[in-house]
Amino acid sequence: YGDASQRIDYVFKVVLIGDSAVGKSQILARFARNEFSLDSKATIGVEFQTRTLVIQHKSVKAQIWDTAGQERYRAVTSAYYRGAVGALLVYDITKRQTFDHIPRWLEELRAHADKNIVIMLVGNKTDLEDQRAVPTEDAKEFAQKEGLFFLETSAMEARNVEDAFFTVLTEIFNIVN
Ligand code: GDP
Ligand code: MG
Repeated sequence: YGDASQRIDYVFKVVLIGDSAVGKSQILARFARNEFSLDSKATIGVEFQTRTLVIQHKSVKAQIWDTAGQERYRAVTSAYYRGAVGALLVYDITKRQTFDHIPRWLEELRAHADKNIVIMLVGNKTDLEDQRAVPTEDAKEFAQKEGLFFLETSAMEARNVEDAFFTVLTEIFNIVN
């Protein structure tokens, strides 16, 4: 897929959720601008970035929302979830606690978002394989049980980030078509 100019056929809102410091903002920076930073500041204020893709000859503008450092306070508001048709539910493969909190995030997501929302479970930081604390199988099993897509990514190495978004956006595209 490439970038489209001109006409926009669809706008899909996708939200990023998960604990603080799992790499949500860097996953977004990688997807939207092909950038990565090791010393990213905690995100301030609700922000979204867009990238326009072509899916099956239609131009699709992905509007990706990033939490505003509200993760710690469990203060992600319903406005954040409103209208979202996709979600990336992110944990850090080197921090078991961030995976243990996934059911809580999923519950919050399902309480606030559209019931047909497409959800991708994302285990980030695969470049830190030697510090892995969450076996791939555990996450795969959880995703299967909950009916989620699942991928492991590295925002740092640009591994599977495009795939994660593209899978979600294509699935949404297929649902609306
Ligand atoms: P957020 O709080 O979930 O938005 O997390 P950030 O995107 O701000 O990332 C938190 C920290 O993890 C920063 O120091 C990032 O540079 C780092 N980080 C993010 N993604 C990766 C990754 O794929 N690999 C490694 N090694 N570090 C990452
Ligand atoms: Mg952030």
